[in-house]
Amino acid sequence: MVITIGVLALQGDFARHQDVLHSLGCDVRQVRYRHDLDGLAGLIIPGGESTTISKQIDRNGLREGIIALARERPVMGTCAGLILMARESADDRITGLNLLDVAVTRNSWGRQIHSFTTPLEMRVNGQREMVPAVFIRAPRIQQLGSGVEVLAEIENEPVLVRQGPHLGATFHPELTADTRIHKLFLEAH
Ligand code: GLN
Repeated sequence: MVITIGVLALQGDFARHQDVLHSLGCDVRQVRYRHDLDGLAGLIIPGGESTTISKQIDRNGLREGIIALARERPVMGTCAGLILMARESADDRITGLNLLDVAVTRNSWGRQIHSFTTPLEMRVNGQREMVPAVFIRAPRIQQLGSGVEVLAEIENEPVLVRQGPHLGATFHPELTADTRIHKLFLEAH
């Protein structure tokens, strides 16, 4: 059976996630309004501008629906998407969805290295694999709750985390040809 995954399509690079999901055989629905969440097997919150996306989540009446979906289905946030999923982001323009027990700070890698690509070692279910990662004005994860598993780090800082079925990446897995992180997300379904 083909599953339908939602991609929050309010702002940011949702189209790239849509392409990856199509390449993995999923149906994809762009989510803009509450009814777009009905029947989804999971949701991706893309990178973009977290303050803008936070405002539009409320403007479009999506907040409660996303939180309700996350009780039953996996949600993955990449970059700004992770900021929105966090419990705390130290920016009062952002209301966190509190789907991941992490505290983040935005745009935290310093000006000189605000964008970079690096190979990452991902540790999933006892396996170690290298995946390429593109960081663009990435957040840093400053605190982790005890239920949060770190799947990859850079210099001892977590950059890919999992809590139950939910995944958060400070980088952009949708910007490389490597689809393993999306596959991992789909396995939680
Ligand atoms: N810096 C952006 C923010 O804080 C995130 C950047 C991104 O998603 N690439 O929302």
